[in-house]
Amino acid sequence: MSAMDIADNISQIRQQIAAACVKCDRNPGNIRLVAVSKKKPATDIEAAIAAGQTLFGESYVQECVAKIDEVESAAEWHFIGGLQSNKVKYLAGKVTMIHSVDRLSLAEEINRQWGKLDSSVDILIQVNLGEEQTKSGTTADELLKLVSQVARLQHLRIKGLMALPPWEEDPEAARPYFRQLRVLAAQVEALGLPNVEMEELSMGMSHDFEAAVEEGATMVRIGTAIFGAR
Ligand SMILES: *Cc1c(COP(=O)(O)O)cnc(C)c1O
Repeated sequence: MSAMDIADNISQIRQQIAAACVKCDRNPGNIRLVAVSKKKPATDIEAAIAAGQTLFGESYVQECVAKIDEVESAAEWHFIGGLQSNKVKYLAGKVTMIHSVDRLSLAEEINRQWGKLDSSVDILIQVNLGEEQTKSGTTADELLKLVSQVARLQHLRIKGLMALPPWEEDPEAARPYFRQLRVLAAQVEALGLPNVEMEELSMGMSHDFEAAVEEGATMVRIGTAIFGAR
């Protein structure tokens, strides 16, 4: 994909987000675009940065760390993929948010690694709404218990929820899942736990982000529509 195509795609998506906001009376300033750059080279990321996009999401630890080192322009990095505990140490201090925390053992390791840096990191709890075997995420039933356990860890802050609904051709099929995530966030909020703020709903990808925005997404994670097919 050329730098110009990447810039055009980003501006197109920003317009679509703005249009979705008009439909549901939201402020586009409250929605962050996470450009998902997995499997794409650092040069594509530099092109996006030149077009004003500075927040990127990566899904694979080694690739993520390599690109953070390689990209020279200032950028912010979120980790959005499935995460093994033994790899958390490579991300420590390099990413500002982890969207994919789905079990206590992983949260404990994140806490340990950021603790070593005397720092802390924002996290989202990933919920597997479709209860698909192949996807990570805690179940809706176990969410409240997991949040209350993770909330005790000092070197992370729970900022919201993330979901990756079952893929369907029709973007409208994802809407009930987006709605469910928002309801779950309200249930978590109602617990009133210290160290837990349900500010963020990370939901919506290339083919369904408009529905996600209409249902309350604060972060949309978009790869293909910016950088092309992987
Ligand atoms: C790859 C990926 C995305 C982006 O998907 P696209 O369909 O390319 O926009 C979003 N979220 C997660 C967790 C991903 O792994």
